Amino acid sequence: TRRSLEGKAILVTGASSGIGREVALALSAAGARVAIGARRVDRLENLVASAHGEVLPLQLDVTDAESVQRAVGETVGRFGRLDALVNNAGLMQSGLILGADVREWQRMIDTNLLGSMYAVHASLPHLLATKGAVVQVSSTAARSASLGSGVYAATKFGISAFSESLRQEVTRRGVRVIVIQPGFVDTELTSHITDPMMQAAAADIAASMRTLRPEDIAEAIVYALSQPEHVSVNEILVRPTDQV
Ligand code: NDP
Repeated sequence: TRRSLEGKAILVTGASSGIGREVALALSAAGARVAIGARRVDRLENLVASAHGEVLPLQLDVTDAESVQRAVGETVGRFGRLDALVNNAGLMQSGLILGADVREWQRMIDTNLLGSMYAVHASLPHLLATKGAVVQVSSTAARSASLGSGVYAATKFGISAFSESLRQEVTRRGVRVIVIQPGFVDTELTSHITDPMMQAAAADIAASMRTLRPEDIAEAIVYALSQPEHVSVNEILVRPTDQV
């Protein structure tokens, strides 16, 4: 399916590192025009240089509804349309509930849950016009919570609820909702954990297995977005083979 996304215009949030960066590159390689948003715009400029097709870097903070509106507006302004939103921006700050710094909870909920809702809200009129798609980069944490992942898992469970409601609202109008649930992927995600015990646990997990690479998730997203209009790939669960 190389060039299977020729002519499509796609916005990827959180494209400055990890999964988002590889998704943007893969979509570009498949022929899409890609708008890439994140707070670290210097990193986005670097991505533009690595991509082959047209890539539009955008300053974006998903926790700010106006910033999200602006990014969607600039995307449609440049490309004239929006065929897909890849809601990828996310933050994980694992830790116990007892004694937690609740500002970390606020940041995770603002970023993962509200941020992705803002992006859907701003994109939806354009996606209805193109019969486009929403890709939610969720997690295996949306299927089962574990010790130390309570708030992160709550945001990802929340994404499942929102996505199913969204699906029922728009599927008969031709908009497809695709939820991707990756297991452990080797990225910067764990670098934001402030609890030393949780940080060490994450490093142990990474060292104990052949983790997924961001490219593995990018491939799943290109697959889902390359389907004919009557096919809606609603959910993809991808774990490393070594992850129990
Ligand atoms: P990274 O930390 O490498 O990437 C996170 C991305 O999100 C960065 O580009 C970051 O950009 C962006 N981001 C964070 N906060 C904001 C914000 N307020 N506004 C805009 N962009 C923001 O981690 P991953 O690539 O691993 O994570 C991507 C997604 O994949 C997340 O939703 C995560 O929950 C999910 N996921 C990851 C797994 C893993 O094992 N790595 C497993 C399952 C799901 P910047 O800081 O420049 O704004």
